[in-house]
Order: sequence, then C-alpha cells, then structure tokens
Amino acid sequence: MKLILLGAPGAGKGTVAKRLTQLDGSVQISTGDILRGAVQAGTELGKQAEAYMKRGDLVPDALILGIMEKRLQEPDCKQGFLLDGFPRTIPQAEALKGLLVRLGIKLDMAVSIDVPRDVILDRLTTRRTCSNAQCQAIYNVKSNPPKQTGVCDKCGSPVVQREDETEAAISHRLETYNQKTAPLIGFYEKEGMLLNVNATSSDAVIAAIQKKLAS
Ligand code: AMP
Repeated sequence: MKLILLGAPGAGKGTVAKRLTQLDGSVQISTGDILRGAVQAGTELGKQAEAYMKRGDLVPDALILGIMEKRLQEPDCKQGFLLDGFPRTIPQAEALKGLLVRLGIKLDMAVSIDVPRDVILDRLTTRRTCSNAQCQAIYNVKSNPPKQTGVCDKCGSPVVQREDETEAAISHRLETYNQKTAPLIGFYEKEGMLLNVNATSSDAVIAAIQKKLAS
C-alpha cells in the first residue's frame, strides 16, 4: 500500500505505520526518525535540523524534500510505503505530488487520524522513545512501559523522553500542526484522496484503512 498518514503529533501515525508494515511489507518512512538519526550521527543534515527540532519548529521544506526525493527511489519502496510525518506543509504536498508524477507512483490515499487534544497531550507527555537511532521503538509510561524501566525491550538501549516532548515544545508543535499541517486535510480532500478516521485505537484506524483499500 502507498499511504500518507496525517495527524497531529501523538495521533498515532507511527504506531499505525509500524503495524501496517507487517501486513504487506510496505516500509514506514518517518521523516522525524530520519532527522533524529541524522542529529544523533552528527551529519550535516542533522546539524542543520537540530535547532528547529528542539524548538518544535518544522525544518525547512528544501531539506525534507531532498531527503524524500532520494528515499522514495530506494528499492524497498517498490512494495509500498507509509509516509509518517511527511508532507507537513502545503509546499511539501505540492512538491510530493510533482515528484510522484515524475516517478510514476500512484498513492492509494491520505489518511487523517483525528484524536481529541486531551488524549494527544496525555500521550505526548507520557511517551518515551528508544534512544538508539536504528530502533526508535515507542513506549508509554502508563499504557505500554518497557519490561525493565528505562531499557528498550527490542535493543537494550536507554528509553528516554524526547527533547521536543517537554510541555513547552509540545504546545509549540501542536500550534505548528494547526497552522501548517492541518490545511493538508483540505488539500487531499480536494484531490479526492482523503480518508478521515476519528479513532483513538490503532486497531480501529487499521480496520478503517483496510476497509477503504478493499472497497
Ligand atoms: P515527528 O517525529 O514526526 O514528530 O518529527 C519531529 C520533528 O522533526 C518535527 O517537530 C520537525 O522539527 C521535524 N520534522 C519531521 N518531519 C518534518 C517535515 N515533513 N517537515 C518539516 N519538519 C519535519
């Protein structure tokens, strides 16, 4: 499947994407994971992105578009991909549209995961992430803690709170989402590609996606 996952930080895009990869071998492409990996590795991209990310601001479109143009042409995308965290602005969506035409790729749909703000805030403040850039498994101190406190079940690395998951950065990220990313819902609705899912459980989101893909 070839999907765009839209939704505020904490809406569950990453969790849904990880589960969808197990269904048909599609790959998850998370621009946030790619950028955090670059920051940790100290690459030029990471150096350019780090300050924006710490503040909860979006990194410039040109940086992200460069990453995505390369990533979408890698062989593992042939089987399908789940775009998690991209596009995040109207210019990114316009550029993606042009890029997909050039590459001859057709998307199935854009899925907007709509979750109430109080649920989002609770999830983001209690979310913890594996610090290993190659893993980045997601936990939640209340609903899904690692078996051993602070240690990743999958790779044994420390599980930490992301630097952009302080209360100030979270509220800034949500504001940025409302201003810059929420307009993409209208964009994909006009394109006739939007599936709106109003659900807090990833099971319900996945069921809605499967139903739409089968219709
Ligand atoms: P995420 O893990 O998707 O919440 O992304 C973490 C941070 O990475 C965001 O707050 C942005 O600073 C940056 N980022 C991720 N994806 C994008 C994107 N498509 N455009 C601009 N910045 C992005």
